[in-house]
Amino acid sequence: MKWRFKTNLKLVALIVLPLIFAALMQTFDSFRMLNNIAESVNRQEHVRSAQAAQSAIYSLRAGLEGIATDNAHWDDAAVLAYEPVDIAWLQQTWGVGTTDSNYDTVFVLDAKGQTIVGYHLGEKMEVPASEYIGPALYLALAALPDDNMTFTSISSFVQTPNGVAFFAIAPILPYSEGKKLKFEKPNYLLILKTVTADSVATLGQNFILHDLKLGPLNSLEDGGQIVPNRWGQPVAKLYWTDSNPGKAARDAHQLSVVLNILTLVGVMLPLALVHLSTLARIEKSEKQAHHSAHHDALSALPNRVLLIEEITKGLPLANTENGEMALAFIDLDGFKAVNDAYGHEIGDCLIKVVAEGLQKIAGDQFVVARLGGDEFALFRAGRDSFAETEIVAEKILQFIREPFDLQGRIVSVGASIGLVKCNDPNMVVSEFMRQADIAMYDAKENGRNRWRKFNANLDLERAENLSIVAELRSILEKDLIEVAYQPFVSSRDREILGVEALARWPQSSHRKLGPDRFIALAEQHGLIDKLGMAILRKSCRDMSNWRDLKVAVNFSPLQIKRLSLVQDIQTVAAEFNFDLRRLEVEFTESVLIQNPDRAKIVIGELQALGVTVALDDFGTGYASVGYLHRFAFDKIKLDRSLTQSLSRGSMAPNIVQGTVLIAKGLSADVIAEGVETEEDATLMRLAGCELLQGYYFGKPQSLTALNDALLGHPTRSKSVSA
Ligand code: C2E
Ligand code: CA
Ligand code: CA
Repeated sequence: MKWRFKTNLKLVALIVLPLIFAALMQTFDSFRMLNNIAESVNRQEHVRSAQAAQSAIYSLRAGLEGIATDNAHWDDAAVLAYEPVDIAWLQQTWGVGTTDSNYDTVFVLDAKGQTIVGYHLGEKMEVPASEYIGPALYLALAALPDDNMTFTSISSFVQTPNGVAFFAIAPILPYSEGKKLKFEKPNYLLILKTVTADSVATLGQNFILHDLKLGPLNSLEDGGQIVPNRWGQPVAKLYWTDSNPGKAARDAHQLSVVLNILTLVGVMLPLALVHLSTLARIEKSEKQAHHSAHHDALSALPNRVLLIEEITKGLPLANTENGEMALAFIDLDGFKAVNDAYGHEIGDCLIKVVAEGLQKIAGDQFVVARLGGDEFALFRAGRDSFAETEIVAEKILQFIREPFDLQGRIVSVGASIGLVKCNDPNMVVSEFMRQADIAMYDAKENGRNRWRKFNANLDLERAENLSIVAELRSILEKDLIEVAYQPFVSSRDREILGVEALARWPQSSHRKLGPDRFIALAEQHGLIDKLGMAILRKSCRDMSNWRDLKVAVNFSPLQIKRLSLVQDIQTVAAEFNFDLRRLEVEFTESVLIQNPDRAKIVIGELQALGVTVALDDFGTGYASVGYLHRFAFDKIKLDRSLTQSLSRGSMAPNIVQGTVLIAKGLSADVIAEGVETEEDATLMRLAGCELLQGYYFGKPQSLTALNDALLGHPTRSKSVSA
């Protein structure tokens, strides 16, 4: 017995102990691997979060700088915030402003940085700015350009008695170029926005940072990302809870590994297998979790998070020795229209098809990402990256310009692409992306379907645009927008039948701007309704005496969205006793594409009131004739490129004549625009146009000039009624 027991023991020792040892080793190993996987997932997540936090801070700062600029670049302020200072005005304007949500504290400083007055949440401040924000004030003043008369602003972070705040400071200067400051050195506007728990939490939600908090530097809490001011001095710490996607999965699986140890001895072999498959499973689910956090579900392309990671990885390559980084932002033009017209299913389908196309064109040298909505990005680091990106951008434009067949529907869209190059390994990723974004908007503003490269001038251009918008806002408020009238005539006897009203930038302004530029800005900044109605009102007023002249007014596609449009038109006409049967409304084709159902209703309602509805710029768009038939236009205006191509021989006459025939096929009157010579006039009449308009018959002119011309016109002088 004894012997057998000993033998068994030996056997146990010999076989089982090594097995137990092996199992323990394996368990230990599993833990280690699990930990490694979990940690690497967490690390990546942390990098992403830190980048997101950086972008979040940047977005707040940039926003505040914009507000400071808007407020300090102001003709009124450049007078009233200077000796003799109008304290009541400062209180009314900026003091009251501190109760709204954009900023909570404001100081007006003299040229030396001494506080003239300060407000916090609507109350006058007892402490001066130098005390409220400390030495940061003088650092900021010193960081402004030397001459101090350049319009710029400086923003940063600072610790105040009310907590950490963003601040932005800007010299108070006249906004209109003609106006000069009466003093040699400017006063300053300093605005602050205290960071509240709520504002940080909202930021956290927007940038997907859990429990985002801002804490003081001396906080006892572990970790945290230091937030420096623009001079590199730490001001506060940002905390958030990493979502640690690796940890949760690891914890769950560790438990199962521990249970496995308990049943270790008996089931050695199966256990080992279970271990292996558990590991494989964990690895797989980690991979899946990681993949879905870094990819877009619809297109399966990398998302913004992964793009930011890739750019961060590319930074070391961004120097002249190794090449550069190149980034392209691609935004589809007309995507919303497709979604609105055909529904989200077709919209999604378009996104997928575009995503596939982009990947195919770019190949595997590029990271192709979807940033959300209809925005995509291409990124590449290393030698020749930028040149390659230019080539690819060109191909992408061609690809997107072609109509897509989506489940049997033919859909046309375009794209605007912004490109940016970087040779600086210290570039801030969010700034790099902002530059691509600005270039993309430049492409959009310059007529879409093109790519544009970022340059520092674009920043200036953007500032210039904002200042034009501010001037336009004030022009509209003061009702200073001007109208020029261009006659159109019958092609048969050349009698003037009506005029087109064209918006003109006031001559009193120091700027000279064409309508193409300021109308586009009005559209982008929500001013087009106001502008459109102002032109309509002035036209009705100016033309009320010419009782048998038609008056054509241009309407932007955006105006048609306003539900009260038809009612507003009626009200304005009634105000001047203007017969609606004399009114013509001109829309371009884009209105039919962007909002066809609404367009159809509005066109019908206008026609019921006796208004003539004209389709402008015919021959330049894409809409098929079948489609145009859905809208019963009274009049079709042939684009001037058609008129001019006929006499200048740049287009085959049969194409022009074909277009005229198509227009006539829509059972509408046809008018040729851009008639500059007798030859143009004759050719367009022979091609079948009943009406003609162009410099040959009269340029767009002031009301006075038009009145003179009409009175001198043989068939017209009789028709004026006082
Ligand atoms: P549009 O409606 O096609 O206006 C005709 C444009 O052709 C005008 O340019 C006019 O000055 C120009 N034009 C007229 N005859 C000739 C000619 O013989 N030769 C040449 N080369 N050009 C000629 P303008 O005034 O610069 O307006 C540009 C565009 O701005 C307009 O194109 C219209 O789309 C828009 N626009 C102008 N005023 C308004 C407005 O009050 N509201 C809206 N929504 N858009 C407006
Ligand atoms: Ca027009
Ligand atoms: Ca036109």
